Amino acid sequence: MTPLLLEDRYGRVATDLRVSLTDRCNLRCSYCMPPEGLDWLPDDSVLTDDEVVRLIRIGVERLGIQEVRFTGGEPLVRRGLVDIVRRTRELGEHLDISVTTNALGLSRNATALKDAGLDRVNVSLDTARADTFHRITRRDRFHDVVAGLEAAQAAGLGPVKVNAVLLRGENEDQAPELLAWCLERGYELRFIEQMPLDAQHGWSREGMVTAEEIFASLSTAYTLTPAEEPRGSAPAELFTVDGGPGTVGVIASVTRPFCGDCDRVRLTADGQVRNCLFARSESDLRAALRDGVDDEELAQRWVVAMLGKAAGHGIDDPTFLQPDRPMSAIGG
Ligand code: SAM
Ligand code: SF4
Repeated sequence: MTPLLLEDRYGRVATDLRVSLTDRCNLRCSYCMPPEGLDWLPDDSVLTDDEVVRLIRIGVERLGIQEVRFTGGEPLVRRGLVDIVRRTRELGEHLDISVTTNALGLSRNATALKDAGLDRVNVSLDTARADTFHRITRRDRFHDVVAGLEAAQAAGLGPVKVNAVLLRGENEDQAPELLAWCLERGYELRFIEQMPLDAQHGWSREGMVTAEEIFASLSTAYTLTPAEEPRGSAPAELFTVDGGPGTVGVIASVTRPFCGDCDRVRLTADGQVRNCLFARSESDLRAALRDGVDDEELAQRWVVAMLGKAAGHGIDDPTFLQPDRPMSAIGG
């Protein structure tokens, strides 16, 4: 077997695979999807557990994938999640395996996920207030998320990271409060700039809370010092809080893009390879797989899919076009 690399025309090599396991979700975050939800993918277009694991295996065995992160939609609503994690772990002890989740139901299966070989979770939580949570997510489930976070930490799925998006007029003034809440509990908080990936196309550059504003807001309550560890391909700019040991990250995807260091590739729940969140095209590995194509040919097609990766997302270009699929259907 000749080893291949997922290298693009700019010399970037993808080693971090984001696998979406479903486009469905049990929350309705206002910056992600409308209150009524979306037209979910038909069941028969979603990869089966065997198909997902086969593509991950090809990525790991033939294409140099080192990290696998399961996402969605909400990956915890996928029935086979624990088994998929277990079968992914069997591909190698060296693999870094994580899940990005809203944590609903995590209190029930954090231990099973840990036992299956999961390393870490990233939990999305935009506020430490139950009423703000209800307004943003349109569901009254704040306490379930808190229980999920606690269970993840107790199960050893750490360091537990919390991802937060700030929305103008909603939780934009809650950054210091959320940081205090996370520091108290030992969670690593990272703020992510809102991106034009919502299904409703409601994003605007003026409407988003920028990394600079987030930094300024945090600085009213804390002294932030750039952390010493090298950033590498990690999207978060990391700061030490009040001399440490606590830290906070800011992911300035829009205002300070890190596309030049990108090492990610995505597989959607319906088996499409996307070389970028903002890609305008996809490569259909599901059709190839269901046509009986062998592993070597699938790997070749995946390599070819990377060659079209753009240099950057171009959100600031006048010609920028939002991708056809929203974040929840791509896998965030
Ligand atoms: N449902 C899971 C969750 O919320 O963690 C996984 C999927 S969700 C699409 C992944 C991440 O994308 C979450 O942290 C969420 O906050 C973030 N996200 C969703 N829409 C976004 C947007 N328009 N801009 C920035 N981040 C977004
Ligand atoms: Fe669901 Fe995650 Fe989107 Fe919120 S951000 S609606 S939890 S997919």
